[in-house]
Amino acid sequence: MTTLESTMDRVVDVAGRYDPVIGLETHVELGTVSKMFCGCPTTFGAEPNTQTCPVCLGLPGSLPVPNEVAIESTIRIGLALHCDIASWCRFARKNYFYPDMPKNFQISQYDEPLCTNGYLDVTVEGRTVRVEIERVHLEEDTGKSLHVGGATGRIHGADHSLVDYNRAGIPLVEIVTKPVAGTGALAPVVGRAYVTELRELLRSLGVSDVRMEQGSLRCDVNVSLSPAGSGVLGTRSETKNVNSLRSVERAIRFEMGRQADVLDRGGRVVQETRHFHEDNGRTTPGRSKEEATDYRYFPEPDLVPVAPDPAWVDRLRTTLPELPAERRARLAGELGATAFEMESMANAGVVELVAATAAAGAPAAEARNWWLGYLTQKANAAELEPADLAISPEQVARVVALVEDGTLSVGLARQAVDGVLETGADVDTVVAERGLRRVSDVDALAAAVDEAIAAQPDVAEKIRGGKVAAAGALVGAVMKATRGQADAKTVRELILQKLS
Ligand SMILES: [Zn+2]
Repeated sequence: MTTLESTMDRVVDVAGRYDPVIGLETHVELGTVSKMFCGCPTTFGAEPNTQTCPVCLGLPGSLPVPNEVAIESTIRIGLALHCDIASWCRFARKNYFYPDMPKNFQISQYDEPLCTNGYLDVTVEGRTVRVEIERVHLEEDTGKSLHVGGATGRIHGADHSLVDYNRAGIPLVEIVTKPVAGTGALAPVVGRAYVTELRELLRSLGVSDVRMEQGSLRCDVNVSLSPAGSGVLGTRSETKNVNSLRSVERAIRFEMGRQADVLDRGGRVVQETRHFHEDNGRTTPGRSKEEATDYRYFPEPDLVPVAPDPAWVDRLRTTLPELPAERRARLAGELGATAFEMESMANAGVVELVAATAAAGAPAAEARNWWLGYLTQKANAAELEPADLAISPEQVARVVALVEDGTLSVGLARQAVDGVLETGADVDTVVAERGLRRVSDVDALAAAVDEAIAAQPDVAEKIRGGKVAAAGALVGAVMKATRGQADAKTVRELILQKLS
């Protein structure tokens, strides 16, 4: 496997010869209480096949009724993405056979989506990239197949398959971008920044829990390369169901390298769907799309057209919440953060965490340092989003307060954070149970200082002779003996006092 650095070099190399063009299709499960066309509940993780009825099982004679909240949520998403909202549109039947789709068709939208022609701006390395949105449409989710007995969890090699229809019929919004060109070596980061920003937007609208690991936000990533300056569009691959922000970036990076290898050898990129592998960051071919599947779309005969009242759409427009970009502009002022700092926080997914930590009493600069530094490292190591770490902004603010009042050194504060992450206990409990308090009591330190002096008489002699800089070695010994709990400044003063 190549190192991260060499793959970065590779992306820069590829972008020197080819223009990468990316496109993203994002599926969002809406957080409605009931399904799209029936009253079944949508709770995640329920016993398989306990949340079904004749409508979502596609039994003969059952009729769908659209979920008004789902339509409202889709319009709100469209408005937040600056889209035009259709004054009249229809659902369509997309016909295909698959065991996780009990009706043998999916109710979707085809040539009449609810929302069209919008955009979302993202900022990467100080540069604003406008990602244009082609369409936002509403459809129903499929069920879930579980392939049992194989090594990979895929159907090939499995003994048998099980199907869970709890997810079948949950409202699903698909957000499709236009091709994004001209970002060069930044294409992988732009892809990630777009999904990050879109997720923040959806979260601020409160329309979905946007949990990528539970599949309520999933992404298909299209990548093609065109020879630099040729203006000829390349053939694209479509990597399906990429389910983390980091994977979006990795999948684009891998596809840029793979397609460049094919083109460099004089080969032809095949139009196909591909699978992304989390373990090695590679993609492998799925189904070939050389021949387009014919879904035989036609207007859904069991549903009336959707014709949103313009007054309703206006009301939804005027009641949109503060969106992430506006919110960041306001928070930048409140947190005293530069544009660069805001971009770093946004791309690391910690803006809200920093704001909440500052609101809990921590100085903004400290809140930012903790979330962008140590806590982001911890999240990366655990392959989690910072927001999913088992520490709250209030707990981080408490750690900052304990450092400020001298109870903890920065090293001890990190140990306290580790303790919170490991045990879920609060900061004060961890500090008390692990005895993390900094020792600054002079009597308690005096013994440790005497021991250090006795152990290194040559160093002590140098200090007596005026070489004050040599004190560092003794300070280090005392810190080690007290497991980092001594106050270094006090120790240094004590040493110099004793040896003057
Ligand atoms: Zn149902």
